[in-house]
Amino acid sequence: MSAKNLQEATIAIRGGRTLDSHASSILFPLYQTGNFVHDQVGVDKGYSYSRVSNPTVDALEQAIAALEGTASAVCFRTGMAAITTLLFSLLRAGDHAVLSDVVYGGTMRLFREVLDHLGIHGDFVDTSNPASVEAAIRPTTRLILIETPGNPTLKLTDIAAIARIAKAHSILLAVDNTFLTPVLQRPFELGADISILSTTKYIDGHNATVGGSIATHDGQLTERLRLIRKTLGTIQAPFEAWLTLQGIKTLPMRLRLHCAGALRIAQWLEAHPAVQYVFYPGLPSFPQHALAAAQQRGSGGIVAFELKGGAEAARLTLNHLQLCSRAESLGGLETLATHPSTTTHADLDPQLRQALGISDGLIRISVGLEDPEDLIADLAQAIAAADHHPHAQEDKQ
Ligand code: PLP
Repeated sequence: MSAKNLQEATIAIRGGRTLDSHASSILFPLYQTGNFVHDQVGVDKGYSYSRVSNPTVDALEQAIAALEGTASAVCFRTGMAAITTLLFSLLRAGDHAVLSDVVYGGTMRLFREVLDHLGIHGDFVDTSNPASVEAAIRPTTRLILIETPGNPTLKLTDIAAIARIAKAHSILLAVDNTFLTPVLQRPFELGADISILSTTKYIDGHNATVGGSIATHDGQLTERLRLIRKTLGTIQAPFEAWLTLQGIKTLPMRLRLHCAGALRIAQWLEAHPAVQYVFYPGLPSFPQHALAAAQQRGSGGIVAFELKGGAEAARLTLNHLQLCSRAESLGGLETLATHPSTTTHADLDPQLRQALGISDGLIRISVGLEDPEDLIADLAQAIAAADHHPHAQEDKQ
């Protein structure tokens, strides 16, 4: 049955799946093997070596393609392996890319540490303002890469507006859709050419693997991605692919709960006297609330908030958390809390951090699937403990 006629929950569980021809097991088998035997010289069953392709990785690719609505997808060892392979597939010396200033930090580092030295340059601009994108385009620009919502302040970029600019200049538009996944945001329907996912996050959803995927309707680009993946050795590992195949089945159901829990927590934080500001696209106070409603199918599971007490209050609050884990990453069942200015965004120039709204008092929460009331109780006791801590009292004097 074609995935096109199925509802999202059905696609997540059944989409793109085929029975293994050997034993018809209900779960597609884990082909934990490095290589495959040729029937005769030059005759094989489509597989040769797991750096090139592997049946379990193929199965994951078909499952992701069914969710993305594309004919195929290509899976990678990590989200960064996906982005690296994409950039090496599309760009050569002298080429230029325009990227969101809130794009994942690893992508910025890839330009700074590797691509810039190879003559491939990127400009990181405020893509929430389409005029900044238009102004950054050069005759050598080959790619626009946006991330929306951006990390950690959830700044949104209007995908359709940027797609119009990209089309007018015959430039490819890639969207890093890691925070929302195709369940909550449909980049292709808004005019994008390429969808990037760190499957590490919501696609796996269990904090069990790292991985990445790229989907596109462009068959030639898909083939090029496979060629460069084979060349760089960036393919996903069979076991991670198998685990991710299990996680993806509950993606739509998990995301519904992530969104509901995040909204509940965002509303509670907004009413808390120690909280200066809450960043959550589902709140009417979020400056781009209308864009979120128009372009997204849900507000997602990430909430960020700034404490009035600044850096010390954020540090003490994080240290007093008992249920929420102090950990990077996002998108899993367990609620994680981070301090972006000293972890994920510590590399950034402090002035740029401030310009992006990443203050030292900012805490980001990846709201998991524990009961939201238990999470609120944990946050309440941590904020209260931070407020009563002698250091916090000294700061107030
Ligand atoms: N894109 C986004 C939006 C991310 O948040 C991350 C990781 O945090 C990546 C890409 C990179 O993915 P990975 O950590 O799987 O390499």
